[in-house]
Amino acid sequence: MSEDNLGGQRSSRGQRSEATNLIRGGLTRSGFDETAEAIYPTSGYVYSSAAEAEAAFAGERDRFIYSRYGNPTVAMFEERLRLVESAESCFATASGMAAVYAALASFLSAGDRLVSSRALFGSCSVIVNEILPRFGIESVLVDGTDLDEWAEALSVPTNAVFLESPSNPGLQIVDIPAVSKMARTAGALVMVDNVFASPVLQRPLELGADVVIYSATKHIDGQGRVLGGAVLSSQQFRDDHLMPFVRHTGPSLSPFNAWTLLKGMETLRLRVDAASASALAIASELQNHTKLTSTAYPGHPSHPQHELAMSQMEKGGTVLAITIDGDKTDTFTFLDSLQLFDISNNLGDSKSLATHPATTTHRRLGTEGRAKVGIGESMVRLSIGLEDRDELLADVLQALGSI
Ligand SMILES: *Cc1c(COP(=O)(O)O)cnc(C)c1O
Repeated sequence: MSEDNLGGQRSSRGQRSEATNLIRGGLTRSGFDETAEAIYPTSGYVYSSAAEAEAAFAGERDRFIYSRYGNPTVAMFEERLRLVESAESCFATASGMAAVYAALASFLSAGDRLVSSRALFGSCSVIVNEILPRFGIESVLVDGTDLDEWAEALSVPTNAVFLESPSNPGLQIVDIPAVSKMARTAGALVMVDNVFASPVLQRPLELGADVVIYSATKHIDGQGRVLGGAVLSSQQFRDDHLMPFVRHTGPSLSPFNAWTLLKGMETLRLRVDAASASALAIASELQNHTKLTSTAYPGHPSHPQHELAMSQMEKGGTVLAITIDGDKTDTFTFLDSLQLFDISNNLGDSKSLATHPATTTHRRLGTEGRAKVGIGESMVRLSIGLEDRDELLADVLQALGSI
């Protein structure tokens, strides 16, 4: 393991293409010249002398010290994602929520102000609305699709902006360049949860954001195997905020999970492109279906923010949200009639999955909280996978027919 590859700290920008970086980025071979990345299941590292240990702890020697701070397999994953994202630094975490919490909690202090879009993943919403306020952080919510609300909220000094685009599960789009510009004027750092778009469909750092957060559990693994997450940022954010926090709070990714995610990265582009093409085809077929009141998909012209979505995303992504023309019972009938889709709360998987957000992922928001972000009892989130597209469509159609 070369010394310049510790925890994604290499600051040079990737000069290779995305396709090559997804396969080879960060690859550092051991003395055994293995083809595939090695898994290093070690908690600690040994020193050739007491003086070397002292130098390592004093920060004079750049090397692995303890796997809470860094591990060779984890470092390969961090470097691969860093190169794909063209970020200065990447820190991998044990889950997406660990990444969201570490990014926000490492940066904000009591008395600080956070402005977020309201349409957030359920657990993100709990961090923003319940956990951070307990530590004296002021949390302000806006309708992420309304630039006037952003402008008003950011008309006073603010420390951080947090947003999801597209949002989970309603697929609302936030104008990342416009909000980033306003945030800069307000003195705020912009943090984007980029889970729905994935690293290959949207690059928030190029759109003006400062920090990008992933649940690697979703498209990066994409095969339902492991939890993981990542925070991508400037070297300065990493050195001044993130590392001092994570070193002592320990949200570290395991070497085995990092290895699984490295393998996931190799097929990320192929999987996301294929699933996005199927999602678009299925969304198109479902337009104006008599059993549906809406089919939301950012990649389809019927989405109210289609143009904005396409100005910042390469494609519409792998997820669509349909609303059944009926009540909760009808919606459950639809879900229970699916034969190919699994009922599950994950997304971005090679297996197509159907979720009822109101009773699962977004249950904690309560009826009123869900109403504010447009999650009704008849909404179903469909995460499109890699099965045969016609069979997926036929499954949705037969399940709709059973209502
Ligand atoms: C799933 C998800 C998370 C949380 O990720 P975990 O890996 O499950 O902790 C955060 N944000 C969004 C948008 C998600 O979909």
